[in-house]
Amino acid sequence: EEHLVIMDETAIRRALTRIAHEIVEKNKGIDDCVIVGIRTRGIYLANRVAERIGEIEGKPVPVSELDITQYRDDRLEAAASAVEMSGPLGETEGEPLSTKDKVIILFDDVLYTGRTIRAAMDALMDCGRPRSIQLAVLVDRGHRELPIRPDFIGKNVPTSKQEQIEVSLSEIDDIDQVTIIHQ
Ligand code: 5GP
Ligand code: MG
Repeated sequence: EEHLVIMDETAIRRALTRIAHEIVEKNKGIDDCVIVGIRTRGIYLANRVAERIGEIEGKPVPVSELDITQYRDDRLEAAASAVEMSGPLGETEGEPLSTKDKVIILFDDVLYTGRTIRAAMDALMDCGRPRSIQLAVLVDRGHRELPIRPDFIGKNVPTSKQEQIEVSLSEIDDIDQVTIIHQ
């Protein structure tokens, strides 16, 4: 098993700073925007980008969390009730987020087949009718099985299906680093 570092701490920091600027530019500001991080590492990425957007725009952008584990379309017992969505930070945990008329920016660490994002969009649609949904990922490793493409990409990493991307974030992994694992 071979680990190859494809993003170090500096590369991750620069990519997230660029994505923060791209989000602000695409949306001509951040009015009505909510960044929704997908458990687990997408939440840390969403928080980091929200912090940078706050510095750029001088006002905070709300962040919410989405746990899609039980909602995947390839799970037999997928149910809307299994989706735990918390409101913007500071609100009561577990309080449902209203997506009505909001610009939702979904954030995940790695995009692969697209099935997680499809399920996330289902869950968001159950919480109201968003004005639009955009997608940001730290790594796009290819192999899509659905017509989904990200609006904001940290790094495109062509992979084989046998390879794995390992995303380490200092909040839980002690280090900021993305590696590719060749089996
Ligand atoms: P998808 O649903 O697009 O097939 O897979 C994306 C989801 O699975 C993301 O939530 C991501 O965290 C996880 N995932 C898929 N492939 C990888 C990978 O190579 N590395 C990591 N770290 N996560 C992956
Ligand atoms: Mg994940």
